[in-house]
Amino acid sequence: MRKFEGDTLLVATHNAGKLKEIADLLGDLGISVIGAAEKGLPEPEEDGITFVENARTKAHAASKATGLPALSDDSGIEVDAIDRTPGVYTADWAETPDGRDFTLAMEKTHRRLLNVGAPQPWTARFCCTFVLAWPDGHDEVFAGKAEGHFVWPMRGTNGHGYDPIFQPLEHDNTFGEMDPDLKNKISHRADAFHKLKAALSNG
Ligand code: IMP
Repeated sequence: MRKFEGDTLLVATHNAGKLKEIADLLGDLGISVIGAAEKGLPEPEEDGITFVENARTKAHAASKATGLPALSDDSGIEVDAIDRTPGVYTADWAETPDGRDFTLAMEKTHRRLLNVGAPQPWTARFCCTFVLAWPDGHDEVFAGKAEGHFVWPMRGTNGHGYDPIFQPLEHDNTFGEMDPDLKNKISHRADAFHKLKAALSNG
């Protein structure tokens, strides 16, 4: 596995929340981050059909444009009984003319489960894929998962996105009810980050 040896990493995201989350994780390892927006990079089209494809597109575009190693991530939730959707379209299902509405997206997912008559429990997983890409075209992929169930009704007001409908295995609370520190220890992102650390020279 190729290791990242520098002390500043370009993070290929225009999402300020995501940048901060990644900055916090990398900060513990003495690595500072610079965001894609700060570098004036355009947002590439996420037209892949897998998390890895989308994360690769973002990381390589940023790395080629700047000549620096770049890190990207792509994430979402897969619900088994509805063909592992919304998957890479997790954020898209929340789109409305007035911005993203995740309550609507969770309702849509629930309605689809009812429409196909899927028996409960509804197994599901959150996925997170990090890609670290270099300007010469090399990349390393780190995929993380959190297995659990899609539950209804929504429970909890912590977190973001689809947190209120995801109950991880071996826990009674949804991500939305859980203490954020606990969620951050057992989440798909934590799992992927744990793997990514091995590719950071001081990780
Ligand atoms: P992207 O990775 O920015 O393309 O978007 C992933 C989408 O998946 C987000 O908009 C969230 O709705 C959802 N998502 C990813 N991780 C989580 C999580 O930890 N909790 C809730 N929703 C998540």
